[in-house]
Amino acid sequence: MSENRESELLAKVPDGLFIDGEWLAADGGKTLKVFDPATGEVVKEIANASPGDGMAALDAADAAFPSWSQTPPRERGELLRRAFDLLQERKEEFALLMTIEMGKPLAEARGEVAYGGEFLRWFSEEAARIQGRYGSNPEGTGRMIVSQHAVGPCFLITPWNFPLAMATRKIAPALAAGCTVVIKPAELTPLTTLYFVKLLEDAGLPKGVVNVFTTSTSGAVSEPIIRDPRLRKLSFTGSTPVGVRLLEQAASGILRTSMELGGNAPFVVFDDADLDKAVDGAMLAKFRNIGQACTAANRFIVHRSVADEFARRVTEKVQAFKIGRGTEEGVAIGPLIDNRAVAKASELVQDAVSRGAVVTTGGHAIDGPGTFYAPTVVTDVKPGSEILQEEIFGPVLAIIPFDTEDDAVRIANDTEYGLVSYVFTENLARGQRMIERLETGMMGLNVGVVSNAAAPFGGWKSSGLGREGGAEGIHEYLQTKYTLTPNP
Ligand code: NAD
Repeated sequence: MSENRESELLAKVPDGLFIDGEWLAADGGKTLKVFDPATGEVVKEIANASPGDGMAALDAADAAFPSWSQTPPRERGELLRRAFDLLQERKEEFALLMTIEMGKPLAEARGEVAYGGEFLRWFSEEAARIQGRYGSNPEGTGRMIVSQHAVGPCFLITPWNFPLAMATRKIAPALAAGCTVVIKPAELTPLTTLYFVKLLEDAGLPKGVVNVFTTSTSGAVSEPIIRDPRLRKLSFTGSTPVGVRLLEQAASGILRTSMELGGNAPFVVFDDADLDKAVDGAMLAKFRNIGQACTAANRFIVHRSVADEFARRVTEKVQAFKIGRGTEEGVAIGPLIDNRAVAKASELVQDAVSRGAVVTTGGHAIDGPGTFYAPTVVTDVKPGSEILQEEIFGPVLAIIPFDTEDDAVRIANDTEYGLVSYVFTENLARGQRMIERLETGMMGLNVGVVSNAAAPFGGWKSSGLGREGGAEGIHEYLQTKYTLTPNP
C-alpha cells in the first residue's frame, strides 16, 4: 500500500464541522488529533467543536426539518440511492480510511463498506413504503385514520469500532423517514463519517439535513443538545454506562431514544454440533474486527466432551493468524484501538489465569509501535472470572466447559447483557429450544455472523432499546398519529 495513496486520500477528507451545508472551523479554531493505532502516528488534525458549535448544528437541523420532512419520500429515497452508488465508486477509499484510523484489516474494512452501504440501499427503498391505515371504527360511527410522521431533528452518536456502518445504520433510516440529523462520530475514528458526509453532499444533500461535529469533549457539547426541546430523538450506539447517562439526560424532556449498547455474547457448542462449522463460526464471531464488536462472542460455552478438541482446533487456527497493520497483505489481526484496550484485555486474561484458567496461545501484549494484543485462547475458565461478566473487546477466546443443556442456558443467560447469542447444534429441536430460552435480541444458529441491513438489529436487557435495520428500523424515526373523523 503506497504511502502516497494514503496521504492523497487523507488530504481529501474534510477537517471541519459540517453545519447548514458549510464546512467550518471550530469556534476558536480548536482542533483534535486522529491517530493510526497500528503506528501511533497522527494522521490528521480536525475541528474540535465547542458547545456553541453543537448548538449551531442543532439550529441547522431544526431549520431544515419542515422542508425535508415534506420532501416526497421518493426524492428522499433517491438521495440515499445516489449515496449508495457513490459509495460503490469510492469503496476502496472508504475501506482504506477505516483501516488507517481504526486498524481493522483491509479485507474486513471492505466488508464493512459492503454492509454499511446496504443500509443506504435498504432505506432508499423503505422511504416510499411508509404507510398508514384508514377504516371504520368497530361501532361504525366514524372513520379512523392512522398516519406516520417524521419525529423531527435527531441527534446520532456513534462509536469508533464500525465507523461507516454505525453512521449509515442511523443516517439512512432517519433521512428516509423525513428527519434531519446532527451526527457526532467517536473522536477516535471521526474521519470516515466526515468523508461520508462529504459523499452525501456530492449526492445532492440539501442544506441543514445532515450536520456533523467532532469533539474531544463529547459530554459537554452533547448534553445541551439532548436537553434542548427542539431535539426529538436521540439514537446512540456505544457502551452501556454512557447509554445510561444519556438516558438520564433524555428523561427530563421525555426524549425518544434508541440505544444500541454493549454485549456479552454466549457462543454455545453442544456435543452434537458439527465441530468444523463451530470452529469456523467461532473464528468469525470472535476475531472479526479484532474482537472489537458488540456482537463479538465473549464466552465460549462448550460441552465438556468436545471442549478439549474445540480448544485444540481454535488454538491451531489462532496460531496461524498474521498480525500487523491492516493494510499489509494477509493480516488477520490488526491493532486494538488504544492502550486502554490492550490493558483491559491483559487484565481480564490475568484475572482468569489467577483463578485457574489455562492459556493455550497468546496471553500478552505485543511491543509497540502500535497497540497490539496477541490473539489468545484461554480454556477452563472458572465461574466468577471477570472475563465472563465484562465485554472483552479484544482478540481473546475464553472457553467454559458445561455438562447439561440446562447448565448451558443458565451460564449463557447469566449476564446483564442480551444482544446476541450463537448456538451450534445439529439437533433441530434443541436449536428451537435455544431460540426460546436464550435472552438475546438476536441469535446465530450454526452461523457466526448475523448482521444484515434487512434484519432488526438490537438487544434485550442492558444491551439496549429499539432496533436498527429491517422493516423495524424506520419506525425508530417515525411517530404515529390516530385521527377520528365522522362518517362521510
Ligand atoms: P463509548 O460509549 O465510550 O462511546 C460511544 C460514543 O459516545 C462516542 O461517540 C463517544 O464520543 C460518545 N460519548 C462518550 N461519552 C459521552 C457523553 N457523556 N455524552 C455524549 N457522548 C458521549 O463507546 P465506544 O468505546 O466508542 O464503543 C464501544 C462500545 O459500543 C462497546 O460497549 C460496544 O459493545 C458498543 N457497541 C454497540 C453496538 C450495538 O449495536 N449494540 C455496536 C457497536 C458498538
